[in-house]
Amino acid sequence: MPLQPSCIFCQILSGEVEASFIYRDELVTSFMDIRPLVRGHLLIIPNDHCSSLADLNDALGGHMFIIARRLAQAIRQSKLRSEGVNLFLADGPAAGQTVFHSHLHVIPRFAGDGFKIHFPASYGTRPSRNELNEIAELLQKAMHLNGKFYR
Ligand code: 5GP
Ligand code: ZN
Repeated sequence: MPLQPSCIFCQILSGEVEASFIYRDELVTSFMDIRPLVRGHLLIIPNDHCSSLADLNDALGGHMFIIARRLAQAIRQSKLRSEGVNLFLADGPAAGQTVFHSHLHVIPRFAGDGFKIHFPASYGTRPSRNELNEIAELLQKAMHLNGKFYR
């Protein structure tokens, strides 16, 4: 989709809104998150307006991951404090998406950085193998909807 005037990330892409850019190619752009979870937290976004994961095609989705890997490596090789890296993508409001121009977070991590993922109370209870098999089958079927491999 073309750039959307009401989208903050499209405004960054068009130069209307200021950002600190790291990287840009024909498919994606990367810039610093304005409210970093950890120092060095950056974002990778498609150059077209794509609101969700479903709007990305394979080439674009794959490219976002390739660039995320390179930027994770750059973080590790830079002077930024980093003992590890998290890649994070929120798809949909229930998943915590707040900007509806799909984006991949690259977050430097180190012991004591204060960033914690809150696990649900049910975490730690292992489902039966039967249940895991049932879910696996459900998803396997969903990937082959209409006899075609889902893309
Ligand atoms: P989400 O919650 O959708 O996964 O993440 C949205 C991210 O975009 C947040 O980490 C937030 O700090 C960042 N963000 C929101 N508005 C702006 C902005 O105007 N400029 C930049 N650089 N980042 C933004
Ligand atoms: Zn946009």
